[in-house]
Amino acid sequence: MIIHDFEMDLTTYAEKGLDNDFPAYACPNPECSSINILHRHGFYWRYGIAEEDIEYIPICRLQCPVCKKTFAILPDFLIPYYQHTLHTVLDQVENVLSFLRCNDFCALGVKTGPGSLLVFC
Ligand SMILES: [Zn+2]
Repeated sequence: MIIHDFEMDLTTYAEKGLDNDFPAYACPNPECSSINILHRHGFYWRYGIAEEDIEYIPICRLQCPVCKKTFAILPDFLIPYYQHTLHTVLDQVENVLSFLRCNDFCALGVKTGPGSLLVFC
């Protein structure tokens, strides 16, 4: 898998679809002797989920002409094997950490009961 910065977000990438500018790469397999760039090997489609957006997007696949291994070019806003975008996951982690920080270390002594997910100190 090759992580590539397409310099756009999920929505823009989805709008461009198959017209995105998919880059050329040399074979990343350290055991391969190829000096050629990888060949296009089709696409597969997967979901990308952001806070308020779900998109079905193409992922370009490349294949090495020498070792025959295939590699997917994953946009950098996605996490391998996850449908949620990187920013969506990080925002949720930040929300959970903020909640824990307030509950565990709040100098104001604010207590929360069941169902109280947000406490602002
Ligand atoms: Zn190769």
